[in-house]
Amino acid sequence: MVIETHTVTKSYGPSPALRGVSLTVEQGEIVAVTGPSGCGKSTLLHVMAGILRPDGGEVRHHGARIDDLSEAKRSLLRRTDFGVLFQFGQLVAELPAVENVALPLLLGGSGRRQATAQAVEWLDRLGVPELAQQLPGEMSGGQQQRVALARALVSGPKVLFADEPTGALDTLSGERVMGLMVRAARTQGTSVVLVTHDATVAAHADREIRLRDGMVDGEHLGSAVAKAAR
Ligand code: ADP
Repeated sequence: MVIETHTVTKSYGPSPALRGVSLTVEQGEIVAVTGPSGCGKSTLLHVMAGILRPDGGEVRHHGARIDDLSEAKRSLLRRTDFGVLFQFGQLVAELPAVENVALPLLLGGSGRRQATAQAVEWLDRLGVPELAQQLPGEMSGGQQQRVALARALVSGPKVLFADEPTGALDTLSGERVMGLMVRAARTQGTSVVLVTHDATVAAHADREIRLRDGMVDGEHLGSAVAKAAR
């Protein structure tokens, strides 16, 4: 199991966002977390990725607790083992694509030449080598999201956390980003935790976990898997 949560709770002030969520994510598995707006999807993703600390329960990575680690250790874990992709790519506006993608490697101590070479390779793999020297402001939303995906994967994370990664894109660009994300994750053996309210996006997953009011409401195989099994 790459990630497990056990009865995780989290409140913002008096209002509970997560009310005891337990789930597991296997190595190489693509899991979609779905449910209506406000049901706790984003909070759950942030807790699993070690960005937010739960109030109660446990989060484990390869069996070891991560929810009780210091901020510095969780931050290191996010740099080495996790990749994160948000709805809006959140690229650094002043840096060209290649430098945005190289950033996690540079922060991790890689030399500039090697980091740049790997960044170029990832831009190529995601079909946007021509964007290397472009600034985020010069790209479309779909292009920015591909660059953000390259940045999330460049360090070879064990788990990619994606929060509504296609939420700001039109259907066609969204499908393209999802296709690239799934293929890249499968090639690398990376697990994906994907938060989405969109059924067509969730259809890319191996398994779907539905939340309601901060609790797991149900779980089933992704439609692609279910179809193949029939
Ligand atoms: P979803 O991603 O499913 O839309 P969220 O995890 O964003 O759900 O939110 C779950 C609940 O927690 C909602 O009621 C939301 O209003 C509340 N919430 C989320 N973030 C905050 C915050 N930073 N401060 C206060 N309440 C929040």
